[in-house]
Amino acid sequence: MKKDMIYNFAAGPAMLPKEVLIQIQQDIQQYKISQTSILELGHRTIEFENILSNVKSQLKTLLSIPDTYEILFTQGGASLQFAMIPMNLMHNKQADYILTGLFSELAYEEAKLYGTIRVAGSTKDMQYCQIPTQQMLDISKDSSYVYMCWNNTVYGSMWHTVPDTKGIPIVADMTSCLLTQQIDVEKFGVIFAGTQKNLGIAGLCVVIIRKDLITSTRTSIPTLMRYDVLSKANSMYQTPPIFAIYVVDKVLEWMKQQGGIQVLENQNKEKSSLLYNYLDQSEFYETKINPTDRSIVNVTFYTPNEQLDAKFIQEAKQNGLFNVQGHKHVKGIRVSLYNAMPIEGVKALLSFMIAFESRYKSFV
Ligand code: PMP
Repeated sequence: MKKDMIYNFAAGPAMLPKEVLIQIQQDIQQYKISQTSILELGHRTIEFENILSNVKSQLKTLLSIPDTYEILFTQGGASLQFAMIPMNLMHNKQADYILTGLFSELAYEEAKLYGTIRVAGSTKDMQYCQIPTQQMLDISKDSSYVYMCWNNTVYGSMWHTVPDTKGIPIVADMTSCLLTQQIDVEKFGVIFAGTQKNLGIAGLCVVIIRKDLITSTRTSIPTLMRYDVLSKANSMYQTPPIFAIYVVDKVLEWMKQQGGIQVLENQNKEKSSLLYNYLDQSEFYETKINPTDRSIVNVTFYTPNEQLDAKFIQEAKQNGLFNVQGHKHVKGIRVSLYNAMPIEGVKALLSFMIAFESRYKSFV
């Protein structure tokens, strides 16, 4: 099957825009006038200095990040933040966590190694099929921060409003949704995102942090995990992951060319609505997420049984619709509609879903 007839619905590492892949191929041969491949570029070169400052200024513009925030680049993917956040921010040894799925649970378990962690809200007993309402939250004024995961990649749910935390800074994991919708950065103390979904490749994490929160004085924190050290060194305390940062630069340029975040958000809503509208009227497929809490980038659903789920995944692949299997925790089907997924891919998926339903509905 030709590459341009294949749509990759993986949750991450995920599809990159075609234009970015073409640019990367050229830059692997020779990056600009440097005479070297981007893979050989040194971090002390003027070219890399330009890449780094370009990434920061593009992020600032696309997300309207105020000057009161700093942008850091860390390694260890998104998961290392599960430890860096409590290590750096939990000054009074207490934090509140809101549990809405697998990754908030993992962050909660990690934070427990460093202090007293309260569960300020959880929908675990509802199998995470909804996001807690404001009334379901119990925020402590003694907590250093309130932690949340904005978009739950595994379950396919997302927050649609920022909770009121009575002035306690919010730390938000936006790994699967940063740059897929407009956000009001000032409502958050820290926003972080692993880059393998909407921003580039795996391993790198973007941390957007309010400057007044960068005050780490605890010397027991490993040097490389201190926000103040990274901030002073402009994220270059060690050799940074140059290629990963370069890919983010190219993806951000592509986003700008698409018209910016509002345009991408509209497209993501249009793509996910195509699927949700069809799923809602279908008696064959089932979605478990509360309609008002649905993700616009990770859509999860089930056919009538596990055998049909397996058939769906296999036949989808034969039709060029790759990686539609649900996460092992929840099984079923999951399709990720990040920025790089064109509407044609979603339309191809929808046609396949309609045909699959009519082929198999009489068997159930
Ligand atoms: N948070 C969320 C919301 C995620 O979706 C993921 C990865 N799927 C992670 C954290 C972990 O990211 P990483 O593998 O880069 O550590």
